[in-house]
Amino acid sequence: MLSLKNPQLLRQQAYINGQWIDADQGNTVEVRNPATGEVVAHVPRMGQAETRRAIEAANAAWPAWRRLTAKARCAILRRWYELMLANADDLAAIMTAEQGKPLAEARGEIVYAASFLEWFAEEGKRVQGDTLATPAADRRLIVVKEPIGVCAAITPWNFPSAMITRKAGPALAAGCPMVLKPAEATPLSALALAVLGEEAGIPAGIFSVVTGEARAIGGEMTSNPTVRKLTFTGSTEVGRLLFRQSADTIKKLSLELGGNAPFIVFDDADLDAAVEGAIASKYRNAGQTCVCANRLYVQDGVYDAFAEKLAAAVSKLRVGNGADKGVDLGPLIDDAALAKVQEHIEDAVAKGGKVLVGGKPHALGHSFFEPTVVVGATPEMRVAREETFGPLAPLFRFKTDEDVIAMANDTEFGLASYFYSNNIQRVWRVAEALEYGMVGINTGLISNEVAPFGGVKQSGLGREGSRYGMDDYLVVKYLCLGGM
Ligand code: ADP
Repeated sequence: MLSLKNPQLLRQQAYINGQWIDADQGNTVEVRNPATGEVVAHVPRMGQAETRRAIEAANAAWPAWRRLTAKARCAILRRWYELMLANADDLAAIMTAEQGKPLAEARGEIVYAASFLEWFAEEGKRVQGDTLATPAADRRLIVVKEPIGVCAAITPWNFPSAMITRKAGPALAAGCPMVLKPAEATPLSALALAVLGEEAGIPAGIFSVVTGEARAIGGEMTSNPTVRKLTFTGSTEVGRLLFRQSADTIKKLSLELGGNAPFIVFDDADLDAAVEGAIASKYRNAGQTCVCANRLYVQDGVYDAFAEKLAAAVSKLRVGNGADKGVDLGPLIDDAALAKVQEHIEDAVAKGGKVLVGGKPHALGHSFFEPTVVVGATPEMRVAREETFGPLAPLFRFKTDEDVIAMANDTEFGLASYFYSNNIQRVWRVAEALEYGMVGINTGLISNEVAPFGGVKQSGLGREGSRYGMDDYLVVKYLCLGGM
């Protein structure tokens, strides 16, 4: 079992209106360790009624929270950040146990997650309005920014902590309360954050965590008119559904949806750096991030050399239980995730692709999968269109810049993209031509709290992190003073 320095962080209750709430008559959801199949904990299986209660509590708590000075709210966020760092080892252990990622990566996520609280604890003090040059001598025109109101958040399992703090950080800093539904697979990281939030001094009702039935909770969050804003990170399919469900109450939406990231290696690239970037971008979190390279395009002249170097680096990656030392890749989140990777490989092989390394479920069993490289990928393959969300790197060959830009943009997604080149003119030209919200140039790692994270096209709406991340939780109010 999980041994923690602070066992209080492992909660099996939901957190609503500042109360820790047990499951109703033992109605719970199991949380399993994907590396072992063991049940780690049970959390309440809640639904519409509990969600409505949390929303009403948030609305009741809102006036006092928005009346606090930004400085006072931000001091609480700052304490929350410090508590996360002080408890980083335990938070990482909880995350690895429910999500599977290697402990070092989990700890990295905790630091990354905490950085959003730190950032918005600072940024929240810098929300500024405008005074406008008046068009009439007897009037004065002022623009103020106000918190939008009760926010609902639905988060995924691939970053069980960071996807919460980058929503809760700006919401709370702006003066909004938030009701959160974490992913079924990873509620424990969310509940541990709630423990620390309570300790940091977040008042009752301002941050609630409702665990359980996605549809019932999501249904209430989207239909309840008290909820002014919904923020969601997850699949494009569920994003579309929530968008539709939010139409009747005209909610403001932030949607961080799927990606299909191209990773382009030009002839003039530093190949070793490109291999390093590809490993970081493709195999981090076992390939389960929405900004993971999904399609690797390599220019003709360096294709074989890159494939060889990448295969050599991939064959050194160690797969295992994330709790063990020296592991690079943990298991996939579940059997369905493993099946999808397998289907993409089978489809690629049937259409002429060749497996250079990996290609099969790992001998460790459960949902472990071998990190895989496939050469000879073509646009007809499923990997060209669909996000694999697993450790498969398909290598496409290209000849000209025009060809690769056309192929890279030939997708409904537009989240992250990457390319490697040492030619400054090409760097600028390609960066402008890529229809993506984010472009990594000569790097495979782009996410941090300072930068605006988000997509174009069907990858979503809004930006998270950065100074732009505050805007998603604010509304503009215009004051017109007459008779001056
Ligand atoms: P993933 O492929 O990452 O599991 P999902 O979009 O299925 O992506 O899940 C992301 C989040 O959306 C999770 O918290 C999940 O429980 C939630 N979710 C899934 N289906 C629904 C739904 N119908 N209504 C509300 N939330 C949902």
